[in-house]
Amino acid sequence: MKKEVLGVMFDDLTREEAAQAGAALLGEDKFHYAVTPNPEFILAAEKDGEFRRVLNEADLVLADGIGVVYSARIQGTPLKGRVTGIGFAGDMLSVLNSQGGRLYLLGAKPGVAEEAGRRIVEKFPNITLCGTQDGYFKDEEAVLLKVAAARPDLLFVCLGAPKQEKWMARWGRHTGARLAIGLGGALDVFAGKVERAPESWQKLGLEWAYRLTKEPQRAGRMAKLPLVLVKAAGKRLKTKP
Ligand code: UDP
Repeated sequence: MKKEVLGVMFDDLTREEAAQAGAALLGEDKFHYAVTPNPEFILAAEKDGEFRRVLNEADLVLADGIGVVYSARIQGTPLKGRVTGIGFAGDMLSVLNSQGGRLYLLGAKPGVAEEAGRRIVEKFPNITLCGTQDGYFKDEEAVLLKVAAARPDLLFVCLGAPKQEKWMARWGRHTGARLAIGLGGALDVFAGKVERAPESWQKLGLEWAYRLTKEPQRAGRMAKLPLVLVKAAGKRLKTKP
């Protein structure tokens, strides 16, 4: 079931349900894409109609970020919980590993996707890493041809939002992949360049705070989190006096 949070239609799923839905998409012989919006996406999508459309046309829209979960609750349409992009990506790697499938990693700075791939294959030895490409390219079509030639089943697209979502919507079906996932900075995490918050912080919904301590330059971007909550409260006031 879909639930709207400030114009973006989210799938109301637990992490396990999202993993099952993702596995089903990966099993079907056609292209699908999944997106993992956080509050920053919601605010950007308010101003960018194409981004909003591309998010809402995705096969899976997962609430990546406690800000989305809080906003949904404030609005009066609570979601079952948060499904982080990185957690979902890990679940899809497990599925791909059990199938002996092919993985392509697109995005991040030169060298990062290779290192991420090396570590992923170490953990999931039945996966074939069929290609990598950094995210700082000019010729979109040339990159598409390179990805398609590698014949991936699963494709991680990590170009930052909204670039990665627009790339998937525009080119994804020509890649031959069954599932593409827009994952922001996930390759930096898989490559060990950026640490994830300890589990105790994640459970408390404080991953954003941990990230802020590590990357204080993100403060400006993160200031958008309260704004989305205020907007959700405003929406509730309008709909439920
Ligand atoms: N990136 C990229 N190409 C670009 C811009 C960004 O490959 O033109 C990468 C960047 O190196 C980083 C990721 O996209 O690995 C975006 O990271 P960010 O932290 O902005 O995303 P978030 O995790 O917050 O969604």
